[in-house]
Formats: sequence, C-alpha cells, structure tokens
Amino acid sequence: MSNDVVICLSASSGYDRVAQGVAGAGRELADELGGSLCAVIVGAAADETVSGVAAVADAVIVADQPELADYQTESYLAAFEQTCRQLEPAAVLLGSDTVGLELTPRLAARLGGSPMSDGTGLRVVDGAIRVTRSAYGGKAEAVFELKRSPAVVWVRARGFEPAPPTGDGAAVERAALELPVAATRIVERHVEEQEGIPLDDARLVVGGGRGLGGAEPFDDLRSLAAVMKAAVGASRSACDEGWVPPSYQIGQTGKKIAPELYLAVAISGAAQHMLGVSDAKALCAINTDPEAPIFRNCHFGIVEDYRKVVPPLIERLRELKQ
Ligand code: FAD
Repeated sequence: MSNDVVICLSASSGYDRVAQGVAGAGRELADELGGSLCAVIVGAAADETVSGVAAVADAVIVADQPELADYQTESYLAAFEQTCRQLEPAAVLLGSDTVGLELTPRLAARLGGSPMSDGTGLRVVDGAIRVTRSAYGGKAEAVFELKRSPAVVWVRARGFEPAPPTGDGAAVERAALELPVAATRIVERHVEEQEGIPLDDARLVVGGGRGLGGAEPFDDLRSLAAVMKAAVGASRSACDEGWVPPSYQIGQTGKKIAPELYLAVAISGAAQHMLGVSDAKALCAINTDPEAPIFRNCHFGIVEDYRKVVPPLIERLRELKQ
C-alpha cells in the first residue's frame, strides 16, 4: 500500500466544481500523506477535462473504452476497481454526485477498504486517515478514523477549495481494462431542460417550500431569482407535491449546495433540508412562524407571509438595479 491518493472522476461531468473540489481534497490529503495524487477519469473525456485534471494531479489515467461511453454501475465500478488495484493507494476519493454516492460503498467493499460518505474534512493523525462529517442534522460534527486501507470516501466536494495547478501538467496514460458484460443497457434518455441558472454552482440560491402552497408561487421565486441572478431550488415537500421537478430538491437526499447566500422562502428548516445548505456562507429565511426551526440557523430572517415580502423585494431590487 502506497501513500498515494486516487480521485475517481466521471468524464461526462467534465472538470466541474465537484471534480475540482475532489481534486482539492485529494491534493491536500496526498500532501499530508507525503504521496502523489493520481486522477482516474472514466468515460470519453473531452480534451479540456483531461487538461484541467492534468494541471492539478501528478498522474492521470483515462479509461475511455467504448463500453465506458455511458455511465453504468458495473462497468464504471470495474474500471475504478482495476485501476485502484494497480495503484494501491492509501485513499480513494469520489465526489458528491450520483456516481460518488452509488459507487463509494461498492468500491470500498471490492477493495477491502473502509467506506465513508459525506466527508467535509480529511486529516492524517499518526498515519491514520480521519474523516469529518456532520451529525445530528448539522448540529454536531463526528470524526471517524478509517481503519482499513484504502479509505474510500465521497466528499462534499463544493466545500473544498479547487486544487491549485502544479506546473507542467501530469502525464496522461490510457488504460486498457477487461470489463464485464453490462447487465443493463440504456434504452431511452431524457434530458431535463435547464431553466435559469443551474442550482449546483450558483452563487445565490432562492429555495421554496410547502408553505408556498402551489406551483404558481414558484413563478414569483423565479422572478426574484432573475433579478438577483440566483438559482431556484426547493424543499423535498415542494418537489413531492409536483410543483417543481425533483432536480430542484435541496437536502440530504437532494442537492448539496454551497452558495454565498441561501434565501429560504416558506421552508420550515427540517434537519434533512438543512444538510443540503450547511455550506452556504449566509442564510436567510421568510416564514410566518417565528418558531420555525429555520430561524435557529439563519443569519437573518423575516417573520412574515412571503406574499407580503417577495413582490416588494423584487420591485426594490429592480429599482436598485436601475
Ligand atoms: P413544511 O415542513 O410543511 O414547512 C412549510 C413552512 O412554510 C412552515 O414553516 C410554515 O410556517 C411556512 N409557511 C406557510 N405558509 C407561509 C407563508 N404564506 N409565508 C411564509 N411562510 C409560510 N427535505 C428536504 O427538503 N430535502 C431533503 O433532501 C430531504 N430528505 C429527506 C430524507 C428523509 C429520509 C426524510 C425522512 C425526510 C427528508 N426530507 C427532506 C423531508 C423533511 O423532513 C421535511 O419534511 C421537508 O423538508 C419539509 O419541507 P418544507 O419545509 O417545505 O415543508
């Protein structure tokens, strides 16, 4: 087993903010361990993805055989497993996206390592890797020491600074892997149309909850978001009601965001929702209930019906812009 760190990336995501955060976490951990950082990119990667990763890693392996053109659990798992077996790293890091959430426990089991989800910090203490993650809905932090090697962790990537470029750019190697015959095949693809600013990397986010009472009030939130240059998200209840698509969902089982400002409108602030916004730099809320849990976590809040706050806020922001 080496002191190296491997980061597992999916080509289809490009060198996006999640991949940058994983690389940042990997760089710091590799430096602390005194090892090197190797990136494994699975799938047909665009040139700018490979060069972006090569600028921050010490080595890059690209596995882009035709069988890996589309994300499939079995084939991607086999690709990451085979490359990790060759490299024998001390730690394997994945991102906070579908691939990371789905593959981390499976990869840890295949490699005989320790799995951990939702890492917000990584440290080396007396040679052992420790992972910090939030507990009790963000009210506390738990620190886990991962006993078996490799430590296989998906990290809350947007909470980590991107890795700085290392210099000349790492050598890029192409892997030739023996892959299993896929047990499934993609028969249909549905690409959801993106309205406005994407939620994942937005600097400002407006979230709507069940207290909005329907799909229509989300149009008001969209108008507010448009004038703020913000993205629109939602609580699970609002998504479950069918007022907005599931891709809007923020929280434990939705997206984890890290904006400069999160404005929660008619959202109670359940622990599962707050887990998705704990990396927001500033949090504010509009809610009729002064006892709503959201106010315990807010930097500032307005106890009022959103219908009395959102329209004048839009108007005032428009005036200020002019
Ligand atoms: P409510 O709890 O119903 O709150 C509505 C709020 O609106 C209230 O505080 C009310 O005072 C306020 N309100 C009402 N009318 C107005 C008005 N006119 N103006 C202003 N305020 C008003 N939830 C998530 O969001 N994301 C997740 O990822 C998630 N994952 C979960 C995973 C599990 C395993 C479980 C069990 C639950 C999960 N939940 C998640 C659900 C979560 O527990 C809450 O039920 C949900 O977040 C509540 O959504 P809400 O705040 O919109 O609705």
